Amino acid sequence: MLNILTVDLEEWYHPEYVKNKTQAHKEERIQHSLKITLDLLARRSLNATFFVVGELAERHPEIIKQIRENGHEIGFHGYHHEPLWNLNIKMLRSELEKFNSLIGEKCNGFRAPSFSLSNKTKWALRVLESLGCKYDSSLFPAKTPLYGVWNAPTKPYKPSHKNVVEKDENSKLWEFPLLVYTLKGIKVPVAGGFYMRFFSVGLIAKAIKKLNQQEIPAVIFFHNWELDQETPRLKLGLYRYFVTYHKLKDMSKKLEDLLSKFKFVSIKEYMETYIA
Ligand SMILES: [Zn+2]
Repeated sequence: MLNILTVDLEEWYHPEYVKNKTQAHKEERIQHSLKITLDLLARRSLNATFFVVGELAERHPEIIKQIRENGHEIGFHGYHHEPLWNLNIKMLRSELEKFNSLIGEKCNGFRAPSFSLSNKTKWALRVLESLGCKYDSSLFPAKTPLYGVWNAPTKPYKPSHKNVVEKDENSKLWEFPLLVYTLKGIKVPVAGGFYMRFFSVGLIAKAIKKLNQQEIPAVIFFHNWELDQETPRLKLGLYRYFVTYHKLKDMSKKLEDLLSKFKFVSIKEYMETYIA
């Protein structure tokens, strides 16, 4: 059973709770945190899908080259890490066109910043499909304070452009929902980021096993800045500080532990194997 490994490649100042708090000068740590990420994946001989923030690829073209040379897949994670609720059809279209010309090819996959795909932003599916994307991985089938669509399917499917939680066999675009753990009917997000740092490896492994028993792949993710021991910590309110920085120092070990327990591939490889 193959599971899916994804990396949201962004700077430490891109997450929603941090982005408006930074000063004019922002320390660039992307080259360092990308190297840590690539080394970790190389150690385990793993290939992943990297959803890259466009402005980073523009400022540092070498990062696209390095990701490719290491055998990973490139996807798009917004040009300036702006959630879909701050964009519109025209803006997303021009962002993706700009990214495609930067990387010199048509990008196949998208992850909305802050998992901001829902029925309020379903117009994004049309934009992605019209620009030749093959898949999206932005739906979190649980409700969290910032995002999530609690009744979305947990298995990869082709979403209707009229209602993102419904399947439509005529749609060309696939959706790869993020891993959740269902406990007594309540869906708990465990796929990555804060939730991966918060919950134990045992619980996340249990969630993966449960899905795999139904022949459903688990889609997990992490951020490059979560592996960087020197990620700058900003003064935030208690809740925001907790969500953004909780247990950052344990993340590398935890991730490696989890990656050693299951087989993970990129979305590209998964699609080539299971979806003709
Ligand atoms: Zn992100």
